[in-house]
Amino acid sequence: MRCPFKQCPRCGDFGMEKLATHSYCVNCNYYRIYDTEVRWQIPSWVKQALGQ
Ligand SMILES: [Zn+2]
Repeated sequence: MRCPFKQCPRCGDFGMEKLATHSYCVNCNYYRIYDTEVRWQIPSWVKQALGQ
């Protein structure tokens, strides 16, 4: 069975969860969106988490 979590490029831990539109690290809250076209769909709470 393949583990859904990948290694996070920021903290180096294997807490990187790969989803359909983005990746998210449960360990350090690293958040990466694959396609820039969906940036405008980012919920406000995510922007707050990113400090934007
Ligand atoms: Zn991380």
